[in-house]
Amino acid sequence: MVKVFIDPGHGGRDSGAVGNGLQEKALVLTISRHIRSMLLNEYENVEVRMSREDDRFIELGERARLANAWRADCFISVHINAGGGAGFESFVHPSRAARTVQLQQTIHPKIVSEIQVVDRGMKTANFSVLRNTSMPAILTENLFIDNTADAAKLKDNDFLRAIARGHVEGIVSAFNLRRKQGGNQVNEPSPTHQKNWEKATAKGIFNGERPKEPLTREQLATILNRLGLLD
Ligand SMILES: [Zn+2]
Repeated sequence: MVKVFIDPGHGGRDSGAVGNGLQEKALVLTISRHIRSMLLNEYENVEVRMSREDDRFIELGERARLANAWRADCFISVHINAGGGAGFESFVHPSRAARTVQLQQTIHPKIVSEIQVVDRGMKTANFSVLRNTSMPAILTENLFIDNTADAAKLKDNDFLRAIARGHVEGIVSAFNLRRKQGGNQVNEPSPTHQKNWEKATAKGIFNGERPKEPLTREQLATILNRLGLLD
């Protein structure tokens, strides 16, 4: 059983970064819940715990203690950036245990490819939760709340799901998680892939190509809607 510990940053009286009408503590809780439900619904042999499941304050030391006591296999701290900038970056502790570097090198590119934003790189920092956890730990900074363009993306729940999907793809790859067979498998394409497919198919149709697979009326309506050609 692979034990994944998700740490939504901040909470309660600590709102984290704020900007453009958004609060970091709420966004990271939403993303973390998506990560948990995707992992539990779609993959086998995985357990998930979270440092908080609602809007409450938890000391940094307590977050690491919870993960250590549970003997988690990995620790993933989810944050939103601020302070001028744009895009995505991730951090591990500067002591750089080999397994930790490997975790970052697996998860970071999966997130970047899923959300397609500026890649600020794989970095190190002496953050409390990275220093005090005894398993491979990574902290992700998912866009800038005080950047208007980034904030617009963060207001879209599909985009928050794409951020979560990137984390999930990384965890799945790092631990070779297997998809559940049948049951409550959720096999819908990620929002990004779905949008790319719709764009590519629409472009093809306009260029006079036949779609590779016949489209249902519903799929065609979705594509036209995306292009603003209906309503
Ligand atoms: Zn934060």
